[in-house]
Amino acid sequence: MKYGGSSVGSAEMIKEVFEIIKARIDKRPVVVVSAVSGITDLLIKCAELAEGKDDFMECYQEILDKHREVTKGLGVEMSLITELLEEFKKDIEAIAQEGEASLKMMDRVQSYGERMSSRIIAAYLDKNGIKSRQHDAWDIGMMTSSDYGNAEPTKEAYTEIRKSLADIDYVPVITGFMGKDTNGNITTLGRGGSDYTAAIIGAAIDAEEIQIWTDVDGIMTTDPRVVKDAKVIREISFNEAAELAYFGAKVLHPKTILPAVDKNIPVRVVNTFNPESEGTLIVKESASGGAIRGIAFRKGVRIVNIISTRMLGAHGFLARVFDVFEDYRKSVEMVATSEVSISLTVKDDNNLDKIVRELEDIAEVRVKENKATICLVGEQMRGTVGMAARIFGVLGKGRVNIDMISQGASEINVGFVINEKDLERAVKALHEEFFS
Ligand code: ASP
Ligand code: MG
Repeated sequence: MKYGGSSVGSAEMIKEVFEIIKARIDKRPVVVVSAVSGITDLLIKCAELAEGKDDFMECYQEILDKHREVTKGLGVEMSLITELLEEFKKDIEAIAQEGEASLKMMDRVQSYGERMSSRIIAAYLDKNGIKSRQHDAWDIGMMTSSDYGNAEPTKEAYTEIRKSLADIDYVPVITGFMGKDTNGNITTLGRGGSDYTAAIIGAAIDAEEIQIWTDVDGIMTTDPRVVKDAKVIREISFNEAAELAYFGAKVLHPKTILPAVDKNIPVRVVNTFNPESEGTLIVKESASGGAIRGIAFRKGVRIVNIISTRMLGAHGFLARVFDVFEDYRKSVEMVATSEVSISLTVKDDNNLDKIVRELEDIAEVRVKENKATICLVGEQMRGTVGMAARIFGVLGKGRVNIDMISQGASEINVGFVINEKDLERAVKALHEEFFS
């Protein structure tokens, strides 16, 4: 069971978490926790203030106060975390001295949130009759690469974790989001990385199910802020969930549950604020539900139209174009091509100027802004005749102009680009067509 930041965001919520664990204690849960909500951002902010030689004490105090409030509300000792707070303060003082924080230092800085929340939660469980112990992830074998800010578990980590958790007779409460590299330095798995921790541990111990306890009822058919009657998707395949996430749905980063899916362990997204709801079950293969499982979208997209000039008809054009994107480590979302032109979309304009300048050596390039992508996802779409007609029929009726269309080889998604101003209208109409 992994509990996210908002699930452990207050004493009140941690009490809820306690009840959820208690009700499922016969399943021998292993608990992974995030930092108290907002804390990771504050830790980073403190470090950034220190880097700029600005006063970080107010920010530090905010972190301290938040934890004081939580420990007080739970009736556990603040002394559980005072040493960590002191250590953190020394780190930011060192950053202020240097005027700079290395990636390695930033990972250290960010680690304090989960190290504190896990200690508090374990103490609260233990005090209230659930035998429990806190573990920093590295103490149970979470060894990683040294890619600070984006570390990957080593192969050995899985065996070590399995061994560490083999014969325990208590509920372990483990820090999400982090590990240590072979040199003993703290690493993080990237923002939101606690899901990844849960999946790695779940895979290592062959869990029956991995539960991601969060603050929504599960993965939704679309964003409920745009479509009021968006529904919870009961079951979805991993590939579908991944496509939805890549195209803008904000629930789970697909990479983070890959270890679980590889081992065919179902992942359930459940709501701590509504524990009776079933949530969404993510499985390797799913046959339930309609042809379209969900609609993801993204605003602020740019289309880059690239028309070959000198290399007309020559081979290697695509390769040269994508090399430029590769050089700037810029990811491309949708692609459509003809023999002499490529249209693709990018999510923001980071490095875009430079990319365009380089591309202009080999092509005519035009960037169109204020675009949005919509992506309809469903494994059952494969082999269902007439889907495209339905999708584009709806858009035609709504007089939504389409700039670009793309369908992946897997045939589990249809994506297209429209003007940002038409987005809400288009999403509503499509949701109506496929889910009402
Ligand atoms: N606390 C970390 C973050 O905010 C990791 C997580 O919550 O999963 O990114
Ligand atoms: Mg989080």
